[in-house]
Amino acid sequence: MFESLPTPKPDGIIALMQAFAQDPRMGKIDLGVGVYRDEAGRTPVMRAVKAAELRCVETQESKSYLSLAGDQAFLDAMGALLLGGAVPAARVASVGTPGGTSAVRQICELIRSARPEAVVWVSAQTWPNHAPVIAAAGLKAQPYRYMDPARGALDHMGLFADLEQVCAGDVVLLHGCCHNPTGIDFSAQDWAEIAALLARRGAVPFVDMAYQGFGEGLDADAGGLRHLAARLPEVLVAASCSKNFGLYRERVGLAMAIVPETARATLAAALAGLSRQVFAFPPDHGGRVVSTILGDTALRAMWQAELEEMRLRVEENRRALASALHAKTGSDRFDMIAQQRGMFSLLPLSPDQVAQLHADHGIYMMGDGRANMAGLNAYSVPVCAQAIASVLR
Ligand code: PMP
Repeated sequence: MFESLPTPKPDGIIALMQAFAQDPRMGKIDLGVGVYRDEAGRTPVMRAVKAAELRCVETQESKSYLSLAGDQAFLDAMGALLLGGAVPAARVASVGTPGGTSAVRQICELIRSARPEAVVWVSAQTWPNHAPVIAAAGLKAQPYRYMDPARGALDHMGLFADLEQVCAGDVVLLHGCCHNPTGIDFSAQDWAEIAALLARRGAVPFVDMAYQGFGEGLDADAGGLRHLAARLPEVLVAASCSKNFGLYRERVGLAMAIVPETARATLAAALAGLSRQVFAFPPDHGGRVVSTILGDTALRAMWQAELEEMRLRVEENRRALASALHAKTGSDRFDMIAQQRGMFSLLPLSPDQVAQLHADHGIYMMGDGRANMAGLNAYSVPVCAQAIASVLR
């Protein structure tokens, strides 16, 4: 049966994680995998998460099945965190999913069941898993211009010229905040223009929110999504709690469809039906931890303070690297790192230069120059700046 099964191409990020683990060099630096790290290089369990976990273990009386959509308290709390009351709950249908990845897949399956010919427009630079997931769901992906590589900023003209080509019923995938891999986010004005364009063309936004709280703050990071939800009849959302709750391996996510009230029940049933075909019930533990935190004033304050600390650390790493690179290279070509937001920046380096950083300096990043700004610390910023300056020569 499996004689002709093709071996899938290795996933770049997984291969990089393995290579880093096997590298015996003492001073190696991991800017590859997208996880938050503290100054000591750890990815700790957040204190609020530990406290909520203890509470859940002590109080939970059953692990019997819940509904296909998962725990309602989790869905309500996440709905409020994402939408902040921008739309009435009667317009929102959502299901818990194992992580943000399966939320993206779930939304793609939903699109295919409703409109198999829909094209999903994706930013030219994007999370490497977007295109494979869209293709696996049987949908066609089409890139739109996003980054102007010369400025390391939004290619505003290219973006809007490409989005003018979307057809009614097409779907436009947008990163809610902290664009992966460029770190370039839309301004409030950009979001307003996007909303107007999509409304005019009859296209549906699909917001992937994987880093809420890591950009400008919890509410500011959801501003674009809330603007779209208030102005458009249909908005799709995939959310992940991997980064902002540090629940990576627990697999906590949410797939959401914001629709006219009359369509809500159908969408809720469609999403639950899709879950039934793949994992049936979402994992409960991580979602319960999230709803416990969001539903308790003290735990929520603790979590928000920890998240803010993480956000500010990444911002500080950005400033430090940008200024060290400015000093070492005598140019402003890396200044944009300080303006960008979230975990990632796409450094203007060739694949050869990235390979040289790896071979000669033990610095790991993705082949396209994507580097995790949370992976830096006071020791590695000057080391990286020196190494990057040396490979540019
Ligand atoms: N979307 C984007 C843009 C991401 O960067 C990620 C994680 N790196 C995800 C979705 C999925 O996250 P997870 O499945 O780990 O929750």
